[in-house]
Amino acid sequence: SRLPADAVVVGIGARPATAWLAGSGIELGTHGEIVADEHLRSTVPDVYAVGDCASFPSGRYGERLLVHHWDNALQGPRTVAVNIVGGAAGEPPAVYDPVPYFWSEQFGRFVQYAGHHAAADTTLWRGDPSGPAWTVCWLRGERLVALLAVGRPRDLAQGRRLIESGVPMNPVLLTDPARPLKAATA
Ligand SMILES: Cc1cc2nc3c(=O)[nH]c(=O)nc-3n(C[C@H](O)[C@H](O)[C@H](O)COP(=O)(O)OP(=O)(O)OC[C@H]3O[C@@H](n4cnc5c(N)ncnc54)[C@H](O)[C@@H]3O)c2cc1C
Repeated sequence: SRLPADAVVVGIGARPATAWLAGSGIELGTHGEIVADEHLRSTVPDVYAVGDCASFPSGRYGERLLVHHWDNALQGPRTVAVNIVGGAAGEPPAVYDPVPYFWSEQFGRFVQYAGHHAAADTTLWRGDPSGPAWTVCWLRGERLVALLAVGRPRDLAQGRRLIESGVPMNPVLLTDPARPLKAATA
């Protein structure tokens, strides 16, 4: 069949190539990923897992996350390095609990997303999505849990910090695109 379309987005996806770990004692998840704990340790002592191939429990979002973004592959190894070096020095292990982040460029527009949201979260728009610059925010209760910013990097930078701090937001103030996001707290 033929479907007319102005633009086609092909979501190919990615799958960890972890079949060779079968029988090693390293637990694999439902997506074939390595199941890491909050310290990014696998189920075999002294074996860590980071990046696209590993999921981890997010205390912030209350669920296990499998993040396929560059920033996650950059930040995870920091926690692993701290835990390898700190473990040898007898320090308590560091916890990996990031606000996930990615950016991309689509049709000449700078697209950034921070956080993690579910279908049940409240969606709020800042600006007109038919225009060149707008942001969409997701609230869980009063808390900002995620935002997608198109051509509004300041929203992203402020929103990321607001997600991290968990400060309650005012949903009415938040929908005013002229108001800085950091000035839309409850
Ligand atoms: C088309 C595309 C577009 C993307 N665009 C974006 C974007 O706009 N923004 C963003 O944030 N992220 C984007 N990503 C995702 C980002 O590239 C990944 O999240 C990131 O590269 C993951 O890094 P990694 O080190 O975990 O894994 P990888 O970069 O996949 O590195 C894993 C490496 O391990 C090697 N390897 C695999 N098995 C073995 C083995 N058995 N022995 C030895 N080596 C092995 C592989 O060859 C590979 O070099 C994109 C990905 C794709 C595919």
